[in-house]
Amino acid sequence: MLKLFNSFSSSKQDFVPFNENLVKIFICGPTVYDYTHLGHARIFLTYDLLSRYLNDKGLQTDVLVNLTDINQNVFNKAKENLTTYKDVAKFYTSAFVVDLQSLGIESITRLAYVSDYVSSIEKQVQKLIEKKVAYTAHGNVYLDVSRVHNYGQISKQTRAQLNMHRLDIGPGKKNQEDVMLWNCTDDFDFSWESDLGKGIPWWHMQDTAVAVENFGKNYDIHGGARELLYPHHEAHLAQYELLTGSEEPVRAWVHVGLVFSDGEKMSKSLGNVVWVKDLIKKYSSDLIRLYIFSKHYRDDMNFSEKDLLSQKPLLDLIRLTASRVSDTTHEDISILAHSFMESLDDDLDSPSALAKIEKICTEVKNGKSLSKIDFNRICKILGIHT
Ligand SMILES: [Zn+2]
Repeated sequence: MLKLFNSFSSSKQDFVPFNENLVKIFICGPTVYDYTHLGHARIFLTYDLLSRYLNDKGLQTDVLVNLTDINQNVFNKAKENLTTYKDVAKFYTSAFVVDLQSLGIESITRLAYVSDYVSSIEKQVQKLIEKKVAYTAHGNVYLDVSRVHNYGQISKQTRAQLNMHRLDIGPGKKNQEDVMLWNCTDDFDFSWESDLGKGIPWWHMQDTAVAVENFGKNYDIHGGARELLYPHHEAHLAQYELLTGSEEPVRAWVHVGLVFSDGEKMSKSLGNVVWVKDLIKKYSSDLIRLYIFSKHYRDDMNFSEKDLLSQKPLLDLIRLTASRVSDTTHEDISILAHSFMESLDDDLDSPSALAKIEKICTEVKNGKSLSKIDFNRICKILGIHT
């Protein structure tokens, strides 16, 4: 049985979806004002591996990714290019789709621009005000987190620790850590007319509206980078519970580690960003996938071309195996194939799974048989071409 590390409980748990045949996954998507870098790609590669594995187990997956197009960076890019935020979002969404496809990521079933959900956000913010868990202060609307009984549960923070954060600073806030839902004060180049006041829906609320509208009362996995745990996912969970009345809106919170470059966080100003569109010109998607899967998804990793190239012998061995498959599988290899699956069952332990593949391919090289069906099944889960 698949076990996943759930950030909510801080433990590996048996993964049992709400619906026995369908797994609904929400992944926090990109802010669409730039190209996709390897840190983003790792997130989608991780859930692609998970989806492929669940599909192999006979479960369907429905993967929803939100596209953040209501954001100052998107607005700035629109201003620079004398165009609209929508055009900027469309351009970079197309590039995002191309980048993901180039890496063999096929699992995403729905993409949702948050700007298509503004009327839902307005209604939901209104509902939170009516429930007296949100309030207006100097035109802005905030979530009163002191009214949320388990606030701090995902990020494991006490009230006192939460109160150390100075979030969404504005006059009249009741608690330092209250999160903004609707912003009317800052001067944006784009804004929405609303009963809440002319302004823009704030980040956390955008994702909540997309998830509630698409998935209803609950869904199985919420994914994204680990750095989104607080305040983003803490706020999302609180809002989701308050809006749907669901006691368990999300079955498992699964977070992916960061990708550093030259030991630092990737940033344009440091000039150390590894763009997918550049990387894919030099290396095959198969090699990039083996490289990403050679690290456990929860660990941070530091990009290095040397490490990437160190996966080349394994890829060559897989290629050699492809040329030697037959109609039957030797018993020893069946046992190894079974332990490959067990590795993935153990919180998607892909480094251990790759070690099993290396053993399988070495056995085939030494003369033991592997059927084409068994070989293709393993390659399909990893998204490696056969
Ligand atoms: Zn999000």
